[in-house]
Amino acid sequence: MSTRTVLVINSGSSSIKYQLIDPDSGDSLASGLVERIGDAVGAIIHKHDGARTVIDEPVPDHGFGLAEVLRLFDQEGPSLKEANVVAVGHRVVQGGSHFSGPALIDDSVVELIEQLVPLGPLHNPAHLKGIAVARRLMPDLPQVAVFDTAFFQDLPEEAARYGLNREVADRYSIRRYGAHGTSHQFVSKEIARRLGREDLKQIVLHLGNGASVSAVVDGHAVETSMGLTPLEGLVMGGRTGDIDPAAVFHLVRVAGMSIDEIDHLFNRESGMKGLTGQQDMREVWKLIDAGDQDARDAIDVYVHRLVKYVGAYTAVMGGLDALTFTAGIGENDARVRAELCHRLAYLGVRIDEERNATRVEGPSTISTPESSIVVTVYPTNEELEIARQAMTLV
Ligand code: AMP
Repeated sequence: MSTRTVLVINSGSSSIKYQLIDPDSGDSLASGLVERIGDAVGAIIHKHDGARTVIDEPVPDHGFGLAEVLRLFDQEGPSLKEANVVAVGHRVVQGGSHFSGPALIDDSVVELIEQLVPLGPLHNPAHLKGIAVARRLMPDLPQVAVFDTAFFQDLPEEAARYGLNREVADRYSIRRYGAHGTSHQFVSKEIARRLGREDLKQIVLHLGNGASVSAVVDGHAVETSMGLTPLEGLVMGGRTGDIDPAAVFHLVRVAGMSIDEIDHLFNRESGMKGLTGQQDMREVWKLIDAGDQDARDAIDVYVHRLVKYVGAYTAVMGGLDALTFTAGIGENDARVRAELCHRLAYLGVRIDEERNATRVEGPSTISTPESSIVVTVYPTNEELEIARQAMTLV
């Protein structure tokens, strides 16, 4: 059989998402989700060939969950053997300074991912659980870790280093690692392919519940908005994005808040949620349509931050050829795209209003032929990028 597939696993603290992908065609052969691991009630949802199988049962741990997934592949199809799975690709959020590309997982790679837990406390422990059970249940398959930070590992020093005391920064590994790198890499490569040229100055706007922007020159990332953690940068669903760190000192001294409380406030109770009460952009627009001034102000803050970053990154690159929108808001929110693009008219951005407002399934160019910058809406596909990167090592 000529087709080869990769099983992509995204293991979270209480969930496992998976997808079986043909990295050459980009086709997804099956996908699914194990939910509420460790809860009294749990569920496994497996999708294949238009059919959806749901098993409602408690899932005590990741090992049980993945074993059930493998059983579902046997029972409901596609058979992993017949699909010719040649690798398992694992999403890993934090690769620190250790990984600038995918890594074939062995004990020493596991140890390095463990060492990076302090830099990725919410994600890396959950990824390690997924990796451990996958190695145990599929011992004959090569397992590959694909890091969210890898695309940004080669950021120029001027972009990666903070103006923080060098000794402290280096001792505690404080630098800008970025995040969403797999998405930024996938989208920027697809745009280069679509435009038929590698020599491009690109800005990719990954606007989802988490949001980040990257500047990419000739296929290499030169800037990105997320930093030591995903808190830095754009205004997000629940995160502040950029904020003066002295706000932390102030809240400790004046409000008597603890570090954990402030962490929660900045990462979960701020952004669109903290500004409007609604985390989901669709709900924010409903508020605006009903005349809510706070919600309108919040969109202004959101778009203003985007205008600042696009301007700054264009300056960093000394120009801009392609601007691309991806992820939940980037792919679906025509109003956010329009508001930003109108404010980029000074750069020569011109969009076709009708094309921007029309929803299409795949990629769509929304700039006019006269626009100096090609503006595209491009659906991200991190799983496909993980599968492709895994294939490079098997
Ligand atoms: P993601 O993190 O990429 O899955 O994006 C999720 C976010 O996308 C949601 O929280 C919404 O804010 C946003 N979103 C999804 N669909 C739409 C839509 N049709 N219009 C505006 N925002 C949307």
